[in-house]
Amino acid sequence: MSVLQDIRNTDAEELKDFFDKIGEPSFRFLQLQEWIWERSAESFEEMTNLPLALRQKLSEHFEFRKAEVHKEQHSSDGTVKNAVRLFDGLVVESVLIPTESRSTACVSSQVGCSLDCHFCATARLKRMRNLSPDEIYDQVVLIDRQSRLKFNRPLSNIVFMGMGEPLLNYSNVLKAIERITSEEHGLGMAAKRITLSTVGVSKMIRKLADDRVRFNLAISLHSAINERRSSIMSINDASPLEELMDSLQYWYLITRRRITFEYVVWKGFNDDEQSIKALVAYCKKVPSKVNLIEYNAIGDARFQQADVEVLELYRQELSHAGISSFIRHSRGRDIDAACGQLANKSTQ
Ligand code: SAH
Repeated sequence: MSVLQDIRNTDAEELKDFFDKIGEPSFRFLQLQEWIWERSAESFEEMTNLPLALRQKLSEHFEFRKAEVHKEQHSSDGTVKNAVRLFDGLVVESVLIPTESRSTACVSSQVGCSLDCHFCATARLKRMRNLSPDEIYDQVVLIDRQSRLKFNRPLSNIVFMGMGEPLLNYSNVLKAIERITSEEHGLGMAAKRITLSTVGVSKMIRKLADDRVRFNLAISLHSAINERRSSIMSINDASPLEELMDSLQYWYLITRRRITFEYVVWKGFNDDEQSIKALVAYCKKVPSKVNLIEYNAIGDARFQQADVEVLELYRQELSHAGISSFIRHSRGRDIDAACGQLANKSTQ
């Protein structure tokens, strides 16, 4: 028996050839594209304006490898965590984060993660595989539906802050973003409403700039002192702070988009004056702002959220240097849906 091909992972050119070969006119191909991408169809049966014979032929060659919500968990603050089951049974997590005026989707780019950031729960899962463009796109579609249903409004923002390192699945993440932003065959969302968060893979940040992307970039920094950063994030050995900064300056030169640094302050790790000074000096080198993220405990006693007074010190010193900073309170912590807590706990 021949294996069916995933229709949404088939090139437009290949599909056009298929239509030619079976003698279907090109407008039928356009109808199919509309069903797949604008209407997020999940089967050929629902494509009621295509002739039955064509639908049958399509289903003999192709299938829909749709991702499905396998489990939904609701936080007392309105956050919804979805365990999304992929066609091969693997599971990733995607989160809907509502505020008064916005609905943000936090999506995953890989199953598990190959990096070893000591403070992150996803790092404890082995990296199983990259997500395909459609598996990323599906998470967005699912959460968009959820937002319309629960809050009566479409998604307003997307952050690539779920499981995995998006820059280690570069081409699939970019293809998914193309779909998400495409007016013609996609969701038509503005690129400026999308933020990609990375540990900071310098080579790939340069590539993003060269590819002239129009979304925002966030860097998980956590320390602007090489030795300390390396002690909790091994990526810093491969891509140390100086090299990271070179790539960020290059990014800014080309995209003119300000960078966001994500930064958690831990007791006894970076709650000292030297760390604050190093961060201020680092931020001054490139147009940037800082999000001071609340730490979400993952059961490792080495990491403890610093006192709020220290956060205020950070804010003051950054502000004196003309750098904006924001304290980001955790969302969805009661259901392990907050930053760094995604570890497929509910499905294990
Ligand atoms: N791999 C990407 C995206 C996933 S992590 C990255 O590293 O940016 C998304 C954000 O959550 C990052 O800023 C990360 O540093 C932060 N994070 C990870 N674990 C955390 C935790 N336990 N508490 C708070 N933030 C955490």
